[in-house]
Amino acid sequence: MSYQIESLLIHGGVDGDKTTGAVNIPVYQTSTYKQQELGVNTGWEYSRTGNPTRDALEKLIADLEGGNYGLAFASGLAAIHTVLSLFKQGDKLVISDNIYGGTFRILEHVFKPLGILFEIVDTSDLKKVEEAIDEDTKAIYIETPANPLLSITDIEEVSKIAKREGKLLIVDNTFLTPYLQRPLELGADIVLHSGTKYLGGHSDTISGLVVVKDKEIADRLYFLQNAIGGVLAPWDSFLMIRGIKTLGVRMDRHVDNATKIATWLSESGYAEKVYFPGLPTDPGYEVQKKQAKGPGAMISFVLKKEYDYKSFYRNIKLITLAESLGGVESLVCHPASMTHASIPKDVRDKVGIVDELIRLSVGIENVDDLIADLDQAIKGSKK
Ligand SMILES: *Cc1c(COP(=O)(O)O)cnc(C)c1O
Repeated sequence: MSYQIESLLIHGGVDGDKTTGAVNIPVYQTSTYKQQELGVNTGWEYSRTGNPTRDALEKLIADLEGGNYGLAFASGLAAIHTVLSLFKQGDKLVISDNIYGGTFRILEHVFKPLGILFEIVDTSDLKKVEEAIDEDTKAIYIETPANPLLSITDIEEVSKIAKREGKLLIVDNTFLTPYLQRPLELGADIVLHSGTKYLGGHSDTISGLVVVKDKEIADRLYFLQNAIGGVLAPWDSFLMIRGIKTLGVRMDRHVDNATKIATWLSESGYAEKVYFPGLPTDPGYEVQKKQAKGPGAMISFVLKKEYDYKSFYRNIKLITLAESLGGVESLVCHPASMTHASIPKDVRDKVGIVDELIRLSVGIENVDDLIADLDQAIKGSKK
């Protein structure tokens, strides 16, 4: 029997503990496992290679993304590191032009010196994607909605290009989660996450997740996961499983609140620009509606010139100034100096990550309280 995502969030993967009947998978806090005799074991040997709590999370995320194989890592970047380790000197990647700062940093400062090259393009423009591909290109790597300008790339159309050209399509699905968008079903080969964000959902765990359908890619990734060793610990795997159970109800509220706030912001007269793919006026609106069940809960905006963005950050009270996103609490950040500081200023300005840009991760608090906080913070920042 196959279940809908709301049920899979709670019962997917390994549903409870088979030995004791415990409804929650225990934290198997062990590094190693007793062997019966030489070469005979229970299937578990060493916890970098495999751990039952991590395994439950890996099976769960695979079920949620509609894939066959899941892998859990100590952070989103550990997951990205392992996926990028599929490539070798001379290989080239085509990547989205607004992308998580840390992804840019690992490409620029870790993989480029090893001879793995990348070209940055606006992947929401399919023609530009096609033009950037050459025979050295091995993969297209996208985020949609992309960070921090929330631009939308058509996953299905890009996957057609990737298939036709024989390239891999990698999608960072952190901003929407499988509850709202399932890239593998739209033709992607590899989907990855910072589980730190909505999947964990409570700003208490750092983690990364990868899901694939294809056995050959999975085997290579399992080899790399064990060889590189950036695995997720048992306790953190438990916290992730616990967080994922409430993903559906949290996302519903996140999206609801964000849609109300984006609408209010764009009608308020405070903002020069509001980026939110859930607004019918947003350039990505139609595509995101086609490929996802909701626009997510990230909003970026630029205040009008008469407001001082620096004092806005000082004035907020209920909303917290912090890195990260996707937790139950609303967070606000300054991409140019925080999440995207590792991208050079000329690149930032070119793609629109200007100094005045404010990024909001809308939490699940009462939406009127959030709007009141934004309203007083903006009013108080008038020059
Ligand atoms: C946070 C984030 C990452 C990196 O994940 P960590 O868990 O912080 O290592 C990657 N991609 C996106 C879109 C993110 O928001």
